[in-house]
Amino acid sequence: MGLPTVFVRLTGCPLRCTYCDTSYAFSGGERLALSEILKQVSAYNPRYVTVTGGEPLAQRDCWLLLKMLCDAGYSTSVETSGAIDIRQVDKRVSTVLDIKTPGSGEHERNLYQNLNFLKRKDQVKFVIIDRADYEWSRQFIADNELHGKFEILFSPVHGELDPAEMAKWILADNLQVRMQIQLHKYLWGDERGR
Ligand code: SF4
Repeated sequence: MGLPTVFVRLTGCPLRCTYCDTSYAFSGGERLALSEILKQVSAYNPRYVTVTGGEPLAQRDCWLLLKMLCDAGYSTSVETSGAIDIRQVDKRVSTVLDIKTPGSGEHERNLYQNLNFLKRKDQVKFVIIDRADYEWSRQFIADNELHGKFEILFSPVHGELDPAEMAKWILADNLQVRMQIQLHKYLWGDERGR
């Protein structure tokens, strides 16, 4: 977070989280050959590239796109909802895996076996809408002994949960998680493509 990064946003998502802020990515977009995506990415001369959505892994060729980005030398990450098997993701890619909380309305879509295929450098992310979500996430981390295995991210839903309030809960519990806010919202509001 905070590093200059090119985002490749793929159209479509099989989920419908209550707090989704990228519903514009459910449809539309532009059909591009993988080579064209690589060309457009290279125009930014980036070091970091993130493939996101929607749910990027729902697109058949996403695995290949991730491999091509790694082969091109970019430090590549993918953001995924956690509802799709991640085994085909290239090992060089950093995976940011959501664990959907009850507040998302989609927590029954979590494919929990994905946790077995994460690497040490990967991240598990909880998007938290209220205190009940926070408690659920804390319990999930304890039940699944996630501490120390991967970096754990807690992100409050923008406009729903006051980040300062969530920070207070984390400090009171001395919870070893990294708090993350949606920096682009603070910088650019809801502007698309940012
Ligand atoms: S998985 Fe992401 S893109 Fe899909 S509905 Fe949920 S928040 Fe939106």
